Amino acid sequence: MVATCALLINLYRRINEQARFTRELEIAHAKQAQASRAKTEFLSSMSHELRTPMNSIIGFSQLLLNNRRQPLPERQAGQVEQILKSGQHLLTLINDILDLARIEAGRLVFSIEPVEIASVIEESVASVSALAEVRGIDIRLPAVPGRHRVLADFTRTKQVLINFLSNAIKYNRDGGRVELGWAPVEDGGLRVEVRDTGIGIPADRIGELFQPFNRIGAEHSGVEGAGVGLALTKQLVEQMSGRAGVESVQGEGSCFWFELPEA
Ligand code: ADP
Repeated sequence: MVATCALLINLYRRINEQARFTRELEIAHAKQAQASRAKTEFLSSMSHELRTPMNSIIGFSQLLLNNRRQPLPERQAGQVEQILKSGQHLLTLINDILDLARIEAGRLVFSIEPVEIASVIEESVASVSALAEVRGIDIRLPAVPGRHRVLADFTRTKQVLINFLSNAIKYNRDGGRVELGWAPVEDGGLRVEVRDTGIGIPADRIGELFQPFNRIGAEHSGVEGAGVGLALTKQLVEQMSGRAGVESVQGEGSCFWFELPEA
């Protein structure tokens, strides 16, 4: 009888503890959701506030550089070009952070339609070719490019590809190579690959890729960046019902890929 009573008391205590634990967990969840909403709102409003002055810095720098009647002396033109470059870099960062916040809040709108992958590739390569040229990097496309269409948002797919391509250039060696390829995969998707001959990623740090603001050591390399691009890229691909990933060998190069449903 005494043993049964002790057992019951013990059971009662455990049930009580469990209930208290569940309540605490619910409160923690609610607090986390509230903090996440506050963060998204803060980021959105900050990004809007930062974008307006940044647009005028960029706009006036362009006006100064393009003034044919009173061209700037060479030294000043170089300095204004630097202002323009930094402004554009900051604007990209602000836009990326705003996009990430919008995705987290479920507020980023995608316009999904059949998209010719070759045209996304053509436009993306065109927008990074100047960057590649400066470093003497050769961008190679397949000799016989297959004609494939994916179900995706054209602009967002281009944003993903430009991000992979500019990283493949940034983290490459001078005179290196970037190879693009695309082919259907088993589950009805199309895989697009961007292969580089760059510094590669240490095996023990691959798991940290795609985390916002994690530059996995590149902050000491002198290569410009903020560690937002890959996190945003993965989210964009997943929002379009796709997947993204990477294979890499340190010192040899990396292959970043994404898959999207074929149209
Ligand atoms: P950012 O380039 O602004 O630092 P990303 O989010 O695009 O940010 O990339 C995160 C980190 O992943 C980079 O800082 C770099 O360390 C690593 N990384 C990305 N792409 C490559 C690549 N092609 N080769 C080697 N490292 C890369």
